[in-house]
Amino acid sequence: MCGFIGIYGNKDVFYDIYTGLLAIQHRGQDSSGIITYSGRFNMKKGNGLVRDVFGEKHASYLRGEIGIGHVRYPTVGGGGAEDAQPFYVNMPYGIAMAHNGNIINYFSLKRELEEKNRRHLNSRCDVEAILNVLAYELEKEGDFSVDGLFSALERTYERLLGSYSVVAIIRDKGLLAFRDPHGIKPIVFGKRGEEFIFASESVALDVLEFEFLGDIKPGEAVFITREREVVRRKIREETHTPCIFEWVYFARPDSVIDGISVYEARLRLGRELAKLIKERGIIPDVVIPVPDTSRAAALALAEELNIPYREGLIKNRYIGRTFIMPTDRERSSSVRMKLNPMRFELAGKKVLVVDDSIVRGHTSRQIIELIRSTGASEVYFASYSPPLRYPCLYGIDMQTRGEFIARNRTVEEIKHIIGADELVYQTVDGLIRGVKGEKEMSFCTACFTGEYPTDVPEDMLRMIEEDRKRKE
Ligand code: SF4
Repeated sequence: MCGFIGIYGNKDVFYDIYTGLLAIQHRGQDSSGIITYSGRFNMKKGNGLVRDVFGEKHASYLRGEIGIGHVRYPTVGGGGAEDAQPFYVNMPYGIAMAHNGNIINYFSLKRELEEKNRRHLNSRCDVEAILNVLAYELEKEGDFSVDGLFSALERTYERLLGSYSVVAIIRDKGLLAFRDPHGIKPIVFGKRGEEFIFASESVALDVLEFEFLGDIKPGEAVFITREREVVRRKIREETHTPCIFEWVYFARPDSVIDGISVYEARLRLGRELAKLIKERGIIPDVVIPVPDTSRAAALALAEELNIPYREGLIKNRYIGRTFIMPTDRERSSSVRMKLNPMRFELAGKKVLVVDDSIVRGHTSRQIIELIRSTGASEVYFASYSPPLRYPCLYGIDMQTRGEFIARNRTVEEIKHIIGADELVYQTVDGLIRGVKGEKEMSFCTACFTGEYPTDVPEDMLRMIEEDRKRKE
């Protein structure tokens, strides 16, 4: 999971990009980077949060009215500073690029680029492969033209497999954004006077007071020329299957993705879950969310069951999100530091804890232990997404098949492992109903169902597992 911003402004864009990245920091805390263009590319990137990587001094260095910024969590890359985005190449023109997603034919593409196209990759980050494919295909077009750019993009799409939402600067030509044919990861598009923005989430547009112009469609590319002309073309289209986990967990509740409010989707997911709790005959005294993602779903669930909603766990805001910490050791030590139970709300009560998902089960078990330590009489656990069973190949850190607690276990077995008195999972149908609301839409639900919207090379699965084991 990553996030990016690209702005074509009419004055220096550093502060806007910096502010926009802060608004989407939840999408990646591993590295941050900004590149601007002011007659030359100016770049600063490194490991850490936006506020740690950038300071006042960078404003005078990162000059230019066009720029892109990125926050990253490592997927294919190893997470070193050399894998931080954006990346750039000098030939042709000078192109800088950042992306969100995961190229699942990365290893064969890298080989092809190095052996057949004579382009050497310096990192293990897949955006460098996308960048070099586009650069290679664009170079074949000769002199730059907008039609030539779109022809190069057509050939680029033919060579890429996976999810890719991309933003790029083409030096002295314009700002480009494109989304893979299934539109797995989001990109929104906005305008403020004569200035344009592309971003991973609409919240960045709100914060910067850009008018929301809509989502980039699946398989669509949008190019803003130097004259600020907007050229939009569909490069290739498949069934639109956006990542359903964006609404479950990744995105901020105040974002709207593909026309669906994240907050409203979470309310609906809470109502769907309430139906299952009722069917099971579970009657808690109090409903509490695991902060922060689960608040909306827990609130709607409590309303539906007519049971009090309380803040039973208080979160230390200065600890990172446990889900996106790379190793188990970091994850488990952070849960106790991160959450403190409200004894007087929980002691002697039957407590229903609502969370967005259960990945490895470590966090859920520790939360249940924490709540029991307050003297709660019973602890029920409810996940407003279904059991996670299959690896995500599209850019999310839960890629290894062996990591999921639900991979080869029944709900009853998981209940015992995490130590809950009752365990309720959302159904896949309930998940889809809850997210789409009134809209007619399909989604990627592969981590729940194993049905991937793209082809999946077996060697990619094997390499991800080996790579992950090396890191742990
Ligand atoms: S597999 Fe799951 S997390 Fe990955 S893109 Fe699909 S829905 Fe999202």
